[in-house]
Amino acid sequence: MNIQRFSGIVMFQRDYREHDLLVKILTEPSGPVMFLARGAKRPRAKLAAAVQPLTLGQYQGSLHQNRLSYLTSADHYRLLNHTTSDLLANAYATYLLALVDVAFDDGQSISGWYDQVKAALKLIESGRNPQIIVNVMEIRLLGRFGVAPVWDRCVICGRSDLPMAFSEEYGGMLCSNHVIRDPRCLHLKQKTAAYLALLSRIDLRRVGDVDVDESTKAGLRRVIDTIYDDEVGLRLKSKRYIQQMHLWDKQLKLNPPKN
Ligand SMILES: [Zn+2]
Repeated sequence: MNIQRFSGIVMFQRDYREHDLLVKILTEPSGPVMFLARGAKRPRAKLAAAVQPLTLGQYQGSLHQNRLSYLTSADHYRLLNHTTSDLLANAYATYLLALVDVAFDDGQSISGWYDQVKAALKLIESGRNPQIIVNVMEIRLLGRFGVAPVWDRCVICGRSDLPMAFSEEYGGMLCSNHVIRDPRCLHLKQKTAAYLALLSRIDLRRVGDVDVDESTKAGLRRVIDTIYDDEVGLRLKSKRYIQQMHLWDKQLKLNPPKN
């Protein structure tokens, strides 16, 4: 068996037989790969801690493209503690990894994307706003699904100084002079449109400095969720869970519990 050493990010795990686990890892050399971790469910199994979802580490195993890969050992691994214990951070990080899992083929190199995903998770772990970080990644990953909206100017006239609306039909923004062309477009607050343009070109490391109010955050979610629902046609369970969380949050604010 040809054993390799590689960096990886644990995406999820699943029970497999009595003592074994199937573990999906985003690997640096080969993108998402499903591994069999033999005996990882046994008490005191060495691999157990290293294969928890949202763990980053160095792994060793066999990497196969067309058959099951095996995980043999791990070292220098660490669980993203804040991310796993914070409800919202956990939900967003889990969704990001689910999105990456569908965006890339198993066993294929994903070149610079590995570092981007790792950087995004580290920012979430450091306590930055998980929604904004994941929004940036969602906007970037759209290209993987063949969708590349124009965010920073009107697709008809190129102006960027007027109020904007987002048009799925035109694949980007329409200014107030051209908004009439798509009766089904999403009208945006100017701040939301400005943030969409900013997030589409920002360096991930600078995202932490971006301070976004709740109503703009809701506006960003509305546009990005609409594109993923309608154009990409992706309805991930982990995304529905986030939407449910925001709904509960809103209801709690409208009707605070009496005590
Ligand atoms: Zn225009």
